[in-house]
Amino acid sequence: MIFKQLIHLLQLNLRKLILFLAIFSVLSLFAISLLVNYYIQKNQLINNSLSVNMEYASKIANGANSHFKTMLKELDYSAKHLGQSFDNEKVLQAEVDRLKFQSDYFNSVIISDRNGNIRSFAPEQLKLNKQVTNHTLGFEMSLKNQATVVTPPYYSITKNLIVFLSQPIFDQNHQYLGFIGAAIYLKKDNILNELLTMKYGYKNSYMYVLDSNQHIVFHPDEKRIGSLITQNTGLNTMVKEKNGKIHLTNSLGEDDLAGFAHIPTTNWIVVSQQPTHELLAQASSIILKIIAGMLFFYIFIFFIVWRISYLISAPLAQLAKMASHLNASTTEHKIKEIDPWYYEVLKFKLSLLLSSQQFKQKISELNFYVNTDPLTGFYNRRGMELFLDEFIKSETHFFVISLDIDHFKKVNDVYGHENGDQVLKIVAEKIKNYSRDIDACCRIGGEEFIILAPNSDSSTGAIVAERIRQAIANTVVPEIGKLTVSIGVAHWPHSARDIKRVFKIADERLYEAKAQGRDQVKY
Ligand code: GH3
Ligand code: MG
Ligand code: MG
Repeated sequence: MIFKQLIHLLQLNLRKLILFLAIFSVLSLFAISLLVNYYIQKNQLINNSLSVNMEYASKIANGANSHFKTMLKELDYSAKHLGQSFDNEKVLQAEVDRLKFQSDYFNSVIISDRNGNIRSFAPEQLKLNKQVTNHTLGFEMSLKNQATVVTPPYYSITKNLIVFLSQPIFDQNHQYLGFIGAAIYLKKDNILNELLTMKYGYKNSYMYVLDSNQHIVFHPDEKRIGSLITQNTGLNTMVKEKNGKIHLTNSLGEDDLAGFAHIPTTNWIVVSQQPTHELLAQASSIILKIIAGMLFFYIFIFFIVWRISYLISAPLAQLAKMASHLNASTTEHKIKEIDPWYYEVLKFKLSLLLSSQQFKQKISELNFYVNTDPLTGFYNRRGMELFLDEFIKSETHFFVISLDIDHFKKVNDVYGHENGDQVLKIVAEKIKNYSRDIDACCRIGGEEFIILAPNSDSSTGAIVAERIRQAIANTVVPEIGKLTVSIGVAHWPHSARDIKRVFKIADERLYEAKAQGRDQVKY
């Protein structure tokens, strides 16, 4: 029901239908291609981001690994050297100073004996107490393992968050003497964050490092260094696989794309991570550019469809319009002018032409019956009026010849009505014979005739009328005998400009003829 009302409201026609169809197809194609495009772009961007992050994480992990190797090697070298002169304070001090100041690797360096008492340290500013036994994580692990140690982050004696690296010191007899250790201050400038904070500017990527216990060793947000990561959905995969890429939700609930790589020396994991929404914002901006680019072409295509829809629908629309104007005189001509450039139009045109011609014929037949008198074939009053209109409109001058049969009542009374009709027919025949083709012969009452005779000369009317009068007067009607007619003549516009007045004058003259003895013409 609503559908039908809608159709009515839209006043559908072929062109609108074609346009609706075109709009529907163009829009759906547009939407589908956008969706497909967006989907492909999005996947491409995600895959790219994952690969870039993974490559970057692995590059950083490799760099860090070789640094740590060097650091442990340096400590190991010193440990071996110190094994031979562990009692010589000067040698110990010289070694810690060298390790601290020769490079930027370490923030502080210490040498401890096997009981956890510090023997030497650098830099001097630390002011460490050599009399106390130390129990921090670095000391505990080094003393317990008597092997290479890399600690998780912890707070040092001087309240710095550090990771501690150490190598054991043995004498010639392989007796454990203590260890040489170095700290990297996680929250101060150090070789590690110098490496990690190198900006590579890929769409808000950031990097962090986890130790084997999922503590954060490095993070751009300094406050988070040292804390434990728990609610990161990629954590298990990263710990298990050590190198790879993953789509994860981080501990803040953000959707991220991450690449990760392992640092074998320290058993840490470097993660390079990028917020997904930042990346997809990029996809959206690409889509907007695509929309802008494609819209132009779609509008162009739509314009072409719009023009073609006109070419297709116009001949049918014109023919449909003609179908409701079949009675107009110009219709046939207009139908013929329509170019039937495709099959349906040709068929429609031919059948409409046929209908128009049949219609015209029917109408002219009907007109004939409406405008003529069946007894004589003359025009009736309606028909006469059509001629009057035409003559006056075209300024054609003409005579009004008004003719009445004399004593016709008697004919009817004596010979009967049928014979009377016969007389009317004979009189009509005479009038027809003695007038021209262009004259309009009319029977407007019982036995009253009007002849409209175009002529600009104002005198010939009387001559024509006289000729008719004589012809009738000379006719012998079988069984009845002779008859006469009386005639009054007037001229438009000589007698009067007003046509009613002209008729009145003709009528008055007819009565004059009657009054003066009938069988005569008055002008
Ligand atoms: P006049 O005109 O000379 O004064 O006399 P009239 O006898 O012709 O007079 P009037 O015009 O009064 O009579 C006309 C008669 O014509 C009246 C009617 O019987 C007859 N009439 C009218 N129409 C027809 C018709 O269609 N057929 C026949 N047969 N007679 C008709
Ligand atoms: Mg009469
Ligand atoms: Mg009469």
